Amino acid sequence: MTETLVRGAALRRELGRWDCGRPGPTLLVLAGIHGNEPAGVLAVQRVLGQLQEMELPLAGRIVAIAGNLAALREQRRFLARDLNRGWGAESLAAMLAKEEAACSSEDLEQRELLTVFTELMSTAGGPVVFVDLHTSSADGPPFLCLADTTDNRRLGLATGVPIILGIEETIDGASLEWWAQHGVMAMAVEGGRHEHPATVGNHEAVLWLVLQHLGMLRSAHVDVARHREHVQKAVAGAPPIVEITKRHAITKADAFVMAPGFVNFAPVPKGGLLARDRTGEIRAAAASYVLLPLYQALGDDGFFLARSVRRFWLRIASTMRWLRLDRLASWLPGVRRDPEDPLTILVNPRVARWFVTELFHLLGFRKERRRGDQLAFTRRWSRPENARF
Ligand SMILES: [Zn+2]
Repeated sequence: MTETLVRGAALRRELGRWDCGRPGPTLLVLAGIHGNEPAGVLAVQRVLGQLQEMELPLAGRIVAIAGNLAALREQRRFLARDLNRGWGAESLAAMLAKEEAACSSEDLEQRELLTVFTELMSTAGGPVVFVDLHTSSADGPPFLCLADTTDNRRLGLATGVPIILGIEETIDGASLEWWAQHGVMAMAVEGGRHEHPATVGNHEAVLWLVLQHLGMLRSAHVDVARHREHVQKAVAGAPPIVEITKRHAITKADAFVMAPGFVNFAPVPKGGLLARDRTGEIRAAAASYVLLPLYQALGDDGFFLARSVRRFWLRIASTMRWLRLDRLASWLPGVRRDPEDPLTILVNPRVARWFVTELFHLLGFRKERRRGDQLAFTRRWSRPENARF
């Protein structure tokens, strides 16, 4: 058995791992990709500590990695740039092409993380599952962000924490995108407010429930009922699944100030005041839930808005995917396959107006950037070896 748990000031890239040499998945837990979010580090250290202390027979391995080490040491969100951006293929290629002397602190961290990620992928004996632990500057229940694949959704639902769909389409280049591109099951957990006493416990409960869902621990070794109860209390009646409808991006020059009193999942009516900036008041265009309102100095997202997704549509979507109805999609007017990429569908929005985003979401396609006057949607694939979850 191998176990390397490091606490406190001697923070290193690998926070610890538990590997009994039994076959199974690799659960990679990333904590503190934002340096002002140490709760995830504490939570995964707690889980590793218990696995070690009780010598629990784990199937597969859990590996905990610190995200932005330099920023964690300084307890700042980041030093030069947000390390949870720039994970798209183009940004990565540009960053990797830089001379080392021209690299920012985050560039160097990202290079190390990439090495760790690829090493873990290449040494994995079973499926790889990525969990990214975050906290937020606002109060409110914990929630999950994930790319909407069937596997990810099942993993998310197993925790009982509300799921937010579509965040990967509004944030360019979060680390989730890198994993999605590699066909790996992945989710980000927003555990609660940074310093709230319950936040570490929220992350911890989610990790135990993930270990149990993946079959890495037998139910006899996890107090599932206690963790579920913990999550249920933390969730406090928030809707089970919502979809992002808007990201309000900001720059320093905007002089953005969030209106006071918002917590995650706070409902805002149509026309409700959200924030102010140098152009005046920012109001909600439709009745929505507010997510990640910014109450700290650093960050380039002012807030997100979301709407509730009815389970009815989710069931329809699963059935359509199961029947592979997406194969018929290119017969629809204004829709054709990309001749260079069979996984991508090109949509002419003037012809195919009414169903564009909704239908392709339902069919498991991910919206990409505009290409000329066309919209490009790419299929969300799961690696076949992940199919059993
Ligand atoms: Zn974060």
